[in-house]
Amino acid sequence: MHLLRNLELGLFLTGFAVFVFTLTLGQFRLTESALTGLVKPEHRAVLLDRTAPMRDKLYDNQIAFIGAFQGAIDGYNEEMRTQSQWDAVIYDNYTFAVTQAASVGAVASHPWLWFWLSIGLATLGGLLYVLINPKYRGPAGIRNEHLYEHPATNRGWVAWLVGSFLIGFYILLYFFPEYLTNWTLLVSPIRQLISGKQGTETLASQWFLYGFLYTVVILVMGIRMLVRHRHSPYQQWRTASVMFFQVSFAFLIPEILALLNQPYQDLKNIWPLDYDFFFDYELNAKIEAGTFGVFMLVWGIILTVVGVPVLTYFFGKRWYCSWVCGCGGLAETLGDPYRQLSDKRLEAWKFERWMVHSVLVFAVVMTALVLYTYFTGQSTVLGVLDSYSVRSAYGFYIGSLFSGVIGTGFYPIMGNRVWCRFGCPLAAYLGLVQRFKSRFRITTNGGQCISCGNCSAYCEMGIDVRWYAQRQQDIVRSSCVGCGICSAVCPRGVLNLETGRVDTRNI
Ligand code: SF4
Ligand code: SF4
Repeated sequence: MHLLRNLELGLFLTGFAVFVFTLTLGQFRLTESALTGLVKPEHRAVLLDRTAPMRDKLYDNQIAFIGAFQGAIDGYNEEMRTQSQWDAVIYDNYTFAVTQAASVGAVASHPWLWFWLSIGLATLGGLLYVLINPKYRGPAGIRNEHLYEHPATNRGWVAWLVGSFLIGFYILLYFFPEYLTNWTLLVSPIRQLISGKQGTETLASQWFLYGFLYTVVILVMGIRMLVRHRHSPYQQWRTASVMFFQVSFAFLIPEILALLNQPYQDLKNIWPLDYDFFFDYELNAKIEAGTFGVFMLVWGIILTVVGVPVLTYFFGKRWYCSWVCGCGGLAETLGDPYRQLSDKRLEAWKFERWMVHSVLVFAVVMTALVLYTYFTGQSTVLGVLDSYSVRSAYGFYIGSLFSGVIGTGFYPIMGNRVWCRFGCPLAAYLGLVQRFKSRFRITTNGGQCISCGNCSAYCEMGIDVRWYAQRQQDIVRSSCVGCGICSAVCPRGVLNLETGRVDTRNI
């Protein structure tokens, strides 16, 4: 068994090492036809001229290639700015597309081979680990796992290593995708399989890469949850639900819609989490797509205005946060080993309420400004607020930095629901309904409580569940995502997630 465990870990680590190594592979050669096909007609002459010294030259690594290409554009833009020719400045970012089209190295030539040696091997190792490992084959449920002693789960060196990798990945993904070109080439055959088409137009973007990795991780770590909590039907159904919604609604359906020339849309994503739902280009794309596009628009509005309050009234925010949402799905699967790291202090609860409601207000104001601009054509409101600046600030600080870099990158340090607890505007909206108008509550049979503290330790939202149990007090907290783990880990059956008619809230 010991040998097997080392084999699983060895497979995973080898696959992961090859995956990282592929970023250093590759050769790049910029051709005139590739450049001409990628850039807008008005930029073609300039870019052909400025990149002439690098064309048909073979670059042995992407850093040198990207540096040369960006240097050519930056040099041109600098000249235009010096001459105050603002209209001639190139604001479009062609670097990722050009780097991908110029790739001629090992990964571009044999993507399937490198795919199986990296992602395939790591996935196999991960699956074997959760299926064979004695840790998950013993008695079901939570046992003493030495969480506070292991460097992977107690903010030790392994946690910092994993966190650094995740943070680095998100920074590259959002701000420098050209450096992930080889990874997009690795998964391009998957995209081509889905589309049934070959050719450069079906190469994977960084968002396809992200969606694919996100889905694989949720599936592998979801299987871990299914094995780990095999005694709990609630955990089985909930985990199966997030796996289903990720594979179908978040990954496959948007890809198929794009193939059918429909707007790319995750139909379970709800404003204000889907913060660009009302942006002009999103609205125009849906309206121009005809009947189905208009259906998407109406569906999204109905989900926000009717779906959220009605479903939250009956089921609490868990119907979304723990059963449907992609962020919640990742938190409940990949993030499960880190749920005990949530901050339980009173100060954290106070900060949480200010923070999450501020983000909700920010999202509402930003959307109001965007819609004002859409209907009036004026970008400045009240003479001071520029709607384009406000929306790009929201996208940068909340949409990228908070939700991605901090929200997921810091899983191993701050816990798995940092984004959901402190930053998600939809969680704030759902939480308001849950707190003031919902049947959902966790009831406590405090007479049975032995004060072991398992419930509080494993609550990913930082709720001191034991405090309520000891007082036989129902738990009606706006932040509770109804994951049910507190109930699953309670050795005395004290906690029950209920949606009865009687309003017994007493806090
Ligand atoms: S109180 Fe229980 S159900 Fe609610 S978030 Fe915490 S662990 Fe999950
Ligand atoms: S409610 Fe259950 S898990 Fe929480 S302290 Fe009491 S016995 Fe332990």
